Amino acid sequence: MFFCLVFGLVPAAGFGIVTAGTAGQKSVLEPLSVLIITGQNNHAWEETTPVLAQYFDASGRFEVDLLISPGENEDISAFNAPFAEYDVVVSNYNGDLWPEPMRNDFEAYVRSGGGFVVVHAANNAFPEWEEYNRMTGIGGWGGRDETSGPYVRLRNGAFVADHETPGRGGKHGPRHEFRIDNRRPDHPVMKGLPESWMHAEDELYELLRGPAENLEVLATAFSGPENNGSGEHEPMVMTIRYGGGRVFHTTLGHDTTAMNCIGFKTLLLRGSEWAATGKVTQPVPVNFPD
Ligand code: ZN
Repeated sequence: MFFCLVFGLVPAAGFGIVTAGTAGQKSVLEPLSVLIITGQNNHAWEETTPVLAQYFDASGRFEVDLLISPGENEDISAFNAPFAEYDVVVSNYNGDLWPEPMRNDFEAYVRSGGGFVVVHAANNAFPEWEEYNRMTGIGGWGGRDETSGPYVRLRNGAFVADHETPGRGGKHGPRHEFRIDNRRPDHPVMKGLPESWMHAEDELYELLRGPAENLEVLATAFSGPENNGSGEHEPMVMTIRYGGGRVFHTTLGHDTTAMNCIGFKTLLLRGSEWAATGKVTQPVPVNFPD
């Protein structure tokens, strides 16, 4: 059974969890439960969510549920999720602020050891929710500026917080293919990946800002002046520790073109497994780009 053909993604009314089924080959390991939250996004979430769900489902390492929020400006006051039932929560959501009980439950879930995965514009969400920004580390748009936190900059071989430079948080030039540089080949998520590889056409997020606490940069991309870029090695893939929880954050994945890349898929699956368990058992595909 392949869920997105069977159920579609738009709930008849309100919100609810859709179980994606298990089309993939079984892993010898107990599958990890993943909840993808979406339903509002200034990106085409109805197109990208099935891609994310299919990657998880086909991997055999995960069992996927989808949680689709009420629509923009609809009543969101009853929206919540049984976070504790999941090994990892993936956000493909950028929209109305979740109600307070849901925010509290989510903070408690991650703080007590839950896994959280931030995909692309999910780091644009909730500029006003302080703890969310601690979880995502850095984000963009939504009025973010120097009051949101530092830029994360590569200086003399180390990533440092730039508290000095004022300016906007979040920008990207025209979409293009770009090179990703592996900055932590010793990290479980990055082990076995090449030193660098080409990523599919995507937005190269730059000038992200946030608390940047307990943040490690796993991969960067150079944002060159020829693309109206910052001239900096911008963080593309990160981890953040929040309490006892592990957060995996990828800025990649603007649309299905950007997601239709072995590099994106591999990082999503390995990063999600790491967020859930702290380990990575999934091998690097033999057709991984270089
Ligand atoms: Zn985008």
